Amino acid sequence: MATQPSAAPSTAEVTDRRHDGARLLRGAPIAAEIRGRLSGEVSSFTERHGFPPTLAVVLIGADAPSAVYLHQIVRSCRSTGVTGRVVEIGARVTTAVVRRRIQELNRDPLVSGIIVQMPLPRRIPLRAVIEVIDPRKDIDGLQPENAGLLTLGYEGFLPATAQAAVEIVKRSGYRLEGLDATVVGRSNVVGRPASLLLQREHCTVTMCHRRTRDLAGHVARADLVVVAAGSPGLITGAMLKPGVIVVDVGINVVADGIVGDVHFDSARQVAEAITPVPGGVGPLTNAILLEHLIAAARAQHDDHHTSAPPRPPAARAP
Ligand code: ADP
Repeated sequence: MATQPSAAPSTAEVTDRRHDGARLLRGAPIAAEIRGRLSGEVSSFTERHGFPPTLAVVLIGADAPSAVYLHQIVRSCRSTGVTGRVVEIGARVTTAVVRRRIQELNRDPLVSGIIVQMPLPRRIPLRAVIEVIDPRKDIDGLQPENAGLLTLGYEGFLPATAQAAVEIVKRSGYRLEGLDATVVGRSNVVGRPASLLLQREHCTVTMCHRRTRDLAGHVARADLVVVAAGSPGLITGAMLKPGVIVVDVGINVVADGIVGDVHFDSARQVAEAITPVPGGVGPLTNAILLEHLIAAARAQHDDHHTSAPPRPPAARAP
């Protein structure tokens, strides 16, 4: 077996026992643990300030998969007493209008965190949108200042999905140090930050992308595979090393529903552990976003002289 649990999982109840070979790493129970801890923080924040932490979700145009995700986020906000504000902007607006709307949210003292729902319509460049988000409100860590802090190993907001992909493995009791990790996909939102976080965790990281010549070879060598390619069934059980840990970040809408980038039925026969889709990384991502939101709200509103200085959650320096 390529990887051994480092200890009895601290959150043993959060994962299924062995099921058809692989252990299922589910996000929801870990997320519930995090939300349970956060709801106390939210109510004391609300008491101190007279308003709850507020997340603004900017939605540009309608898109089926992202609308599903959006509703999950708003539900998850409500369950912890946080206000989730959906800011809908018509699909036909110009980039300048989107930027102006975000700048208004930057100035709104009630809004502590801003996320922009992706994917954006093709004609609106991602960079033009994310670069205007105030770094203190950029709770998904995508804005250049936060991305730079991550690259340098300094504290800042981390991209929540990438953080969830790493946390789900750690919180299930696996040690990452020294593992050969292969990340499939190099987007700024998931693949690239996941690779940086895995380096912080002392993995030896291989990055694969569309022009990788031997994807199967790089996947076959890995003790840990993180897949964020947006391609259903890209990784199959036949490509995997027995005992591997598989984190599937893909969310693809197909005729049968939602599937990941990993062919689940074949992969679960080979893997030590695998995240299901749906139900794996997604629910944990939402809880981590909330964690970031509350850290942002405290950083913006708490009196640092009378309370413990809040900090955005961040991984250790390398
Ligand atoms: P996400 O936001 O989930 O990361 P993107 O569509 O932004 O998704 O990025 C997809 C990434 O996956 C790109 O870096 C691309 O190179 C990679 N990718 C897509 N298809 C393949 C493939 N067949 N083999 C390897 N990498 C792929």
